[in-house]
Amino acid sequence: MRPMPADSWLPELLTADVLYTGIGGGYAPGGVVVSGGVVAATGDLATLRASFPHARERRAGAVIAPPPVNAHTHLDMSAYDFQALPYFRWLPEVVIAQQRRRGVAGALAGAAELARLGTGAVGDIVWAGDVMDALLPREDLTGVLYFEVLGTFPERADAIFAGVRERIERWRRLERPGGLRVGLSPHTPFTVSHRLMRRVTEYAAGEGLPLQIHVAEHPAEAELFRTGGGPLWEHRPAALYPATFAEVIGRGPEPDLTPVRYLDELGVLRARPALVHMVNVTPEDIARVAAAGCAVVSCPRSNAHLECGAFPWAAFAAAGVEVALGTDSVASGGSLDVRGEVAFARALYPALDPRLLVRAAVKGGHRVTGTRPQVLRRGDPWDERFVW
Ligand SMILES: [Zn+2]
Repeated sequence: MRPMPADSWLPELLTADVLYTGIGGGYAPGGVVVSGGVVAATGDLATLRASFPHARERRAGAVIAPPPVNAHTHLDMSAYDFQALPYFRWLPEVVIAQQRRRGVAGALAGAAELARLGTGAVGDIVWAGDVMDALLPREDLTGVLYFEVLGTFPERADAIFAGVRERIERWRRLERPGGLRVGLSPHTPFTVSHRLMRRVTEYAAGEGLPLQIHVAEHPAEAELFRTGGGPLWEHRPAALYPATFAEVIGRGPEPDLTPVRYLDELGVLRARPALVHMVNVTPEDIARVAAAGCAVVSCPRSNAHLECGAFPWAAFAAAGVEVALGTDSVASGGSLDVRGEVAFARALYPALDPRLLVRAAVKGGHRVTGTRPQVLRRGDPWDERFVW
């Protein structure tokens, strides 16, 4: 037997910039006292130092917390090469140019990567039926697979909805307790007609299905709702759109109309969708989202890489909106590791309490995906996977 070091019976005090146990607000800096492989105490670093003066102190890492949730991604794009380009160049030069890489093989590789990273849960946007068929049976992930719905012609909404509903009902029969669940994602307020948006979100609310919608990602989206034109309209695939934007949204653009106000007045926020991006919003938009009780998902690296702007985190936090974090696809986010989003956000928001960011990645993500967080408790065996 190897001789034990003389002080190995001493408890160890593991330190981090942020400790979040899964309950409460967290500590910055914080620590965990581990004795005999078991968590003896958690909390504020100064208090732990005073309570355990003989503990050997060791920096564990930047964060000690339960595994984070990647609340928004596109796993079927995991075989894409990452490229940071302005939004209106990224769409044709990356998304369209590498389209043959999109599909089941990339989705399975992405899912395996999330499992390897020890992701707490995932919110994945599923673009095609064969990807849903491939991901839904996986037992190494939990969270939501949101089937993506597009269609700008209001007169086609009922037929599209009928097809979506038939598929959702079939997939829901394959859900397993504790496993991946099926949700719906009407893509954006400008790629889904008003009629299809209403049908999908009313159905989801009635069935208790989780929803995600990309909203207010690029400044051009706000311009489109104000004016009915601008770069988003000019770059559209014209064959896939009616003659005017007013036909898509069922009303005229107005100087005060925003994507969020449009969704609110359409009744969509009552279904409490998680709103993804929310970069280019007004104070009134934030108030509407807070009043509706919707959570938002921020993808800080993707927003920066595509030059969409920065999510106004402090304003959402002040309004009491639950924030989660997602990587978006590897093609714009760079990786599927949501801990990278937390590190990036710490640099992007130096004035923001870092505990908010860690909590968002854990608790916010579990709120969005409807999954249960792991908790770091006194008396539990210490698990190195809690160090980020
Ligand atoms: Zn996305």
